[in-house]
Amino acid sequence: MDIRSNEPYWLIKNALTNSYSSLKEDMSAEVLIVGGGITGALIAYKLIKEGKKVVLIDRRDVCNGSSAASTAMLQYEIDAPLHELIEQRGLTCAVASYQNCEKAIFDLKKIVGEIKSDCQFEFKKSVYFSSTKKDVDFLEKEFEARKQHGFKVKWLDKEKLQKLGLIAEAGIESESAAVMDTYKFAGDLLEYCSEKGLTIFDRTELESVKEENESLSAITKSGFKIEVQHLVYCTGYESVETLKEDIVDLKSTYALASEAFRKIPKAFKDHIYWNTSEPYLYFRGTKDGRIIMGGGDENFKNAKKRDALLPKKEKNLTKAFNKCFPDISFELDYSWAGTFGETKDGLPYLGKPDLDKNKHYVLGFGGNGIMFSVMGMDAILNSLHKTPHPYLEYYKFGR
Ligand SMILES: Cc1cc2nc3c(=O)[nH]c(=O)nc-3n(C[C@H](O)[C@H](O)[C@H](O)COP(=O)(O)OP(=O)(O)OC[C@H]3O[C@@H](n4cnc5c(N)ncnc54)[C@H](O)[C@@H]3O)c2cc1C
Repeated sequence: MDIRSNEPYWLIKNALTNSYSSLKEDMSAEVLIVGGGITGALIAYKLIKEGKKVVLIDRRDVCNGSSAASTAMLQYEIDAPLHELIEQRGLTCAVASYQNCEKAIFDLKKIVGEIKSDCQFEFKKSVYFSSTKKDVDFLEKEFEARKQHGFKVKWLDKEKLQKLGLIAEAGIESESAAVMDTYKFAGDLLEYCSEKGLTIFDRTELESVKEENESLSAITKSGFKIEVQHLVYCTGYESVETLKEDIVDLKSTYALASEAFRKIPKAFKDHIYWNTSEPYLYFRGTKDGRIIMGGGDENFKNAKKRDALLPKKEKNLTKAFNKCFPDISFELDYSWAGTFGETKDGLPYLGKPDLDKNKHYVLGFGGNGIMFSVMGMDAILNSLHKTPHPYLEYYKFGR
């Protein structure tokens, strides 16, 4: 599957952070992780810390899937608003999902600090805003739900938003959010794990898996065998290639990066933004003075059709930016497109599709994909050891 266009800003900025050799012989390990994006890197970090013998393979160069395209707004605010998620999945699951996404922001920061990654991680406040009067009631409902369940939120009226530089009807300001360069972080984390014993092979594609009693034989496209007890698929949107259950709607999404401002505009110093439109728009700044924005989702995943729409999306998204922030001149520098996936409840899929087999999945789909991948670290050992964990219930297959 072609999951992104050629020029995400992060790839140009960082180039190839690290290259590993491809697999050229049969081998064995305790766990095979398939996929070397941010999810594979985080899961490898967790398993290596537990002293497991782990091999990781990726069919591309590592971190060159969706993780290279991510705009990396790190939020506890899930695509499904809290008050709707409570209706859909019940109070316990909904509130715990929001709370654990918030915890994941801080868990991630700890790892950034531990491995000393220069991935431009910065804490921010997030503003969820409505540009139209008709969404204000919805926003009020969401504000009440978040306040009731202990989230630190503030109501921003038109005047307060205008002081920030944003033209909108109303907004919810949330205390906990962050941004980073996902591509750089995932690359740094893989390098750290490799120094601690993780064996990595890039340009090594998993083609098939043979099951023999308790062990699994993973066969690569070039014909080599990796014998393991457990296989963890961190294969992102391409997981639809190996899953029987239809769990995700794949779409196309678009992102733009502005030229660097000499000084980042005040609106983007401490805040990131997303709105109530469908599909939603979102905006953030970078440490090197750019503004990154995204949105314009289309309900198809055809890569040719997706990339052909880029020039039109550049125009429309820039226009949408100017409407929201009329005092900031957005000079387009880079644009890219990617595949994006939404689940029916905005929540991830973690654990085993078939409880009798040792094939595990960590699939952080949706606008909070990265936070869900961090949360996957908390449940992966339980999945491996067949012990209960709330996430393996909330985010199970077949739900
Ligand atoms: C434009 C855009 C903006 C986004 N913005 C945000 C955001 O603001 N906040 C947020 O939290 N999330 C965001 N996301 C989502 C986020 O980027 C993803 O959730 C995250 O990058 C997924 O990481 P991953 O490691 O699971 O997948 P990937 O990075 O795609 O990694 C999966 C890897 O598996 C490998 N693979 C697949 N199949 C095989 C196989 N058979 N054999 C070997 N290797 C295989 C692939 O080569 C790939 O490298 C955004 C996504 C896009 C596209």
